[in-house]
Amino acid sequence: MILTINAGSSSLKYAVFDADLAQLLEGLIEELAEGGHQRAIEQVVRQLRERGLDSDITVVAHRVVHGGSRFRSPTRIDNEVERAIEAIAPLAPLHNPANLLGIRLARAAFPKARHVAVFDTAFHATLPEHAYRYAVPSYWYEQHAVRKYGFHGTSHAYVSGVACAVLAKADLPCQKLVTLHLGNGCSAAAIQDGRCMDTTMGLTPLAGLMMGTRSGNIDPGISAYLAREGIEVGVQETQLNKASGLKAIAGDNDMRTLLARRATGDEQARLAVAMFVYRIIKTVGAYAAVLGGLDGLVFTAGIGENSDQIREEVCEGLAFLGIRLSAKLNRERSADARLISEGECAVMVVPTDEERAMAKQAVALA
Ligand code: ADP
Repeated sequence: MILTINAGSSSLKYAVFDADLAQLLEGLIEELAEGGHQRAIEQVVRQLRERGLDSDITVVAHRVVHGGSRFRSPTRIDNEVERAIEAIAPLAPLHNPANLLGIRLARAAFPKARHVAVFDTAFHATLPEHAYRYAVPSYWYEQHAVRKYGFHGTSHAYVSGVACAVLAKADLPCQKLVTLHLGNGCSAAAIQDGRCMDTTMGLTPLAGLMMGTRSGNIDPGISAYLAREGIEVGVQETQLNKASGLKAIAGDNDMRTLLARRATGDEQARLAVAMFVYRIIKTVGAYAAVLGGLDGLVFTAGIGENSDQIREEVCEGLAFLGIRLSAKLNRERSADARLISEGECAVMVVPTDEERAMAKQAVALA
C-alpha cells in the first residue's frame, strides 16, 4: 500500500491507496504550530494502526515543492537525497523546510517503507532554455540558480494525461494543450505532445497569474522602488504572498464570495474578478502562440472545476481560438473528467488528484 504525505507549513494532508490505486483513506491535519508536524505524523500512524494498515505501507510518496535543477523526476529518498532537498530549501523557504520535516518524521515512523519524493517542479523540466532563462546577468543563473522552474507540475501532468485519454477516445487531437490550475494558487502550462513547453510560475510560486493571495506577475522594478520608499524586502515578500491577489483588490480570496458579491453590484469584487479573468485570457492567448495553435483547454482545481461562471468568462475572451462552450455542459456538475465545448477547440474540466498522481508516480518508480 502507498501512503502519500503533503506536509505544508501549517497543515499535513495524507492519503492511503492500495496497489490498484483505489483510495482507502484520506485526512487533513490543520493548524500545525510548534511541534505540530511530529504530532501530525503520530496521528497518521495512529489512524493507520486503527485500520490495521500501518504494517502494510510499503511506499511513502512525499510532495516536495521545489526540486531545483537536480530533481527532474520522482526520486527515491536516502540520506544524500534528503541533504540535497535541504540544500535547495533557500529557493523555496516557505515550502521545502516543511516538506523536509515531513520526510524526516515519516522515515522514522515508517523505517521499512520505500520513501519517494515527488517534485512540483519536475513536470516543467522539459522547458526549453529560451523559456526558462530570465534575461538577467548570467551569474544570477550560474551561481544563484535563478531561472524559471514552475510549480503545480504534478497537477498539470495528471490533468493533461487524463484530458488526452478522453480526447483520444473521442477521436480528437491533443497535441497542443493549455492546462489551467485555478485554485488558491493559480498557474497555466503550455503542453506539446505531453511535454511542458512553458508555464506561468517561475523561480518561486509567486509569478504568473493573479491568485487568491499572491500577486502573480508584477514589474520587477517595484521591489527596489518600494525598498527605497522604506518598505523592506521581507515585508514585501510576505505581502506579495499573503496580502495580494484577489484579497488585495476585494478583501477576500474566496472566489465563491467574490462572485456572490459581484452579483449584488459590488465594485471591488467586479474589479478583482475582471483582473483575474483578463490575466488568464492573456496567458492562454500567449500559449496558443507558443504552441502554434490549440487543440484543448483544460480547467482544474477549486475554481477551474467548480465555477462555470469563470470558465464562461475565460472562454468568451478566447472565441478567436475556436473556443465555444456548450452552455448546458458547462453548467452540469460532475466529479468526472468531461468535455464541455462544442467548438473547434476542445474545452474540458478535469478534476485534479495530486495524491493519486503522487501515488502512481511513486509506484512507477518502484
Ligand atoms: P488550494 O490551492 O488551496 O488547494 P483549491 O483548489 O481548493 O485551493 O481552490 C480554492 C478556490 O476554489 C477558492 O477560491 C474557492 O472559492 C474556489 N471554489 C471552490 N468552489 C467554488 C465554486 N463552486 N465556485 C467558485 N469558486 C469555487
